[in-house]
Amino acid sequence: MSDFIPAGIYIHIPYCKRKCSYCNFHFSTQLRTIPDMVKAIVSEIELRTEEGANHTVQTIYFGGGTPSLLPIPALANLMRTVHACYRTDQAIETTIEVNPDDVSPAKLKQWHELGFNRLSVGIQSFHDADLRWMNRAHSGTQARYALDCIASSEFSNVSIDLIYGLPGGSIEKLGENLEGLRTFNIPHFSAYALTTEERTAMAHWVRKGLLIPEPDEDVIAQMDFILDYCTQEGYEAYEISNFCRTNFRSRHNSAYWDGTHYLGFGPSAHSYNGKRRCWNASNNAHYLRAIHSGQIAQTQEMLTETDCFNEFIMLNLRRAEGVDLDRLKKEFPNYLEGILLDMRTLIARGEASLTGHTLQLTRSGKHQADRICVELFRTNASSS
Ligand code: SF4
Repeated sequence: MSDFIPAGIYIHIPYCKRKCSYCNFHFSTQLRTIPDMVKAIVSEIELRTEEGANHTVQTIYFGGGTPSLLPIPALANLMRTVHACYRTDQAIETTIEVNPDDVSPAKLKQWHELGFNRLSVGIQSFHDADLRWMNRAHSGTQARYALDCIASSEFSNVSIDLIYGLPGGSIEKLGENLEGLRTFNIPHFSAYALTTEERTAMAHWVRKGLLIPEPDEDVIAQMDFILDYCTQEGYEAYEISNFCRTNFRSRHNSAYWDGTHYLGFGPSAHSYNGKRRCWNASNNAHYLRAIHSGQIAQTQEMLTETDCFNEFIMLNLRRAEGVDLDRLKKEFPNYLEGILLDMRTLIARGEASLTGHTLQLTRSGKHQADRICVELFRTNASSS
């Protein structure tokens, strides 16, 4: 067995062609700084080589933003640098997020030749009206063309993102979007309920009274529809927003939920080493200026026991496996008494169930997962 600690690497590519109306991730639509940014991220990876000295990298994830916007030589440069600076596992999972409008047979071949072996495709919807409302750069036809190309490519480990709870949405439209999974034989998908995030066009429309978000009961009905679809079609709901066929779980995200260490590079990327979390500046100009002077624009916090407990609850409660009470007892003994009391309340309300020593959300608990996590969180001053 290897003495090295497993780790994941995340590379944030902070550029997009358009601002999607609902998105508050860090990105810029000023694409002219891409060459400078790629050089800067390469420098950051090299500057932080020492942080990975005791680790073996098992997953690499290029996310964003839109990594598929990057020219092939830029992706090759980043990939080469990661492999030169860090010890990587032979069976590494290497994912690239791609948008449908960037996909072509030639690009797929090149991404595969660079070492990517998993694609995460930002489909969101196959309906043009939804895509226009979201201000996505692609159409339904482009989404279908991209998945057609992928079906004839070397990539078999493919995920698509879908959004539900859209204004004017319906179970029927959602069903048509899910039908795309069958049509293109997609082994993994993520489905996110639309939420109103600060500093987005959607938040502005809601504030001005131009948009009324879908009622909660409609969003919950759509979530239930997805869960029923998964049961019928043989997808495992292995996390609250993630669904897969057997052996197609995202290894990168699963490692993150397991508490595996990760190193994040690029503006806004987060890193975690079990004791400390740090995050890079969410500002391209600030990030570039720092790297040009040999620094990394980074903020860090040391995690308290309470922070680690809250994170343990949040990550595990959202997973099919649930919260392992034996592990909780071993890792957070001071918190056990309080959680057992809360657990009884959740079970009495029908929001959680106990199987052996594992606490899992029921379906009605999944509808309220965020609220339940907050209920179970502890503050730094108290443990029970
Ligand atoms: S949703 Fe994706 S493509 Fe759209 S702005 Fe956000 S990061 Fe960019």
